[in-house]
Amino acid sequence: MKWHSLIIAAFCAVLLLTNSLVGQGIQWDEEILVREREQREERFRHSGREIGPAFRVVGLEDRPRMEKTLLILATQARLSVIERADMDWEGTALLVWSSEQEFMEHTGFRPEHIFAAASPQRMTIWINEAAWSRSSPGDRQKTLAHEIGHLLLGSFPGGQELPLWANEGIVMHLADQWTFDDHAKLLWAHLFGRLPPLSELEETFPRESAAQSLAYRMSYAAVATVANAQGDEPGSVRRLMMRLSHPTRGVAFAEELRDPFVREGWQIATSRSLGSRFSTGVALLTGSTVLFIFAAILVLIGFWVKKSRAANRFQDEEDEEAWSESLTQQDVEDIYGEPEERWKSED
Ligand SMILES: [Zn+2]
Repeated sequence: MKWHSLIIAAFCAVLLLTNSLVGQGIQWDEEILVREREQREERFRHSGREIGPAFRVVGLEDRPRMEKTLLILATQARLSVIERADMDWEGTALLVWSSEQEFMEHTGFRPEHIFAAASPQRMTIWINEAAWSRSSPGDRQKTLAHEIGHLLLGSFPGGQELPLWANEGIVMHLADQWTFDDHAKLLWAHLFGRLPPLSELEETFPRESAAQSLAYRMSYAAVATVANAQGDEPGSVRRLMMRLSHPTRGVAFAEELRDPFVREGWQIATSRSLGSRFSTGVALLTGSTVLFIFAAILVLIGFWVKKSRAANRFQDEEDEEAWSESLTQQDVEDIYGEPEERWKSED
């Protein structure tokens, strides 16, 4: 009985502690909202205008806790995007919490794959409730940052005129959506001469999943090349964003990316930035994945050789046994001599 009460008391203590820690986490995170508000006022002080909040949540009026969580997550994502872009939007964007049905009506996307989609024209991000709850916290943060990147890019004229590959590639940079695996997969495509032409990525991306992923990776690499030519560090698009945000020259720069001659130049430069196909082949063949596969194959071969040797030895012993069993007493004596002689010779 004593033990029972002790266990229950310990359980309650853990619950209380966890609850207070989680509570503290949210309180601490709320400071982000205050800090962001101050940053915004500071940034737009020169305009002399009253700047509203960066986000307003719609559709969660009856769930204030969820509303706050979403607002905090979106603000965290937004702050990381703003830091990378070094710019901000003036207006208030809407975060619309929607059912799968509403999400499809507004965005036209199949909701099983995407939980958030942005419309820069309406300064709105739609969130699909069902897909949101299925996604991981890391995915939520990255996807929110991606959609927020679209809003930011679409908030100035040059950003609105970009071809799709440039738009997606810039937003992927802003949301830091690039992994070692993406790089390796792009190199494989390069090795087999299968990099998609930028001319085919101007308005839409392929719907098929592998081709679509490759389209995004190609977009990232092409934007990295364009940004590099503006003086940006690898992984940064800060100077490229500055160029696009110029009130008059930004639009011209964006439109120029669609010019067939200019576009071909970026295609060649992107392909060249990945190295020659020979060096790519060498890099991939000495890459960790390939080495790992090679080592795994060697281990398997070793195991197979060992196993087949053991099987052969067993077979030899069996053959020997069958042979010795077939001998008559006379044969044994012929081969090994008289039993007594055998023991004598051992001495
Ligand atoms: Zn996108």
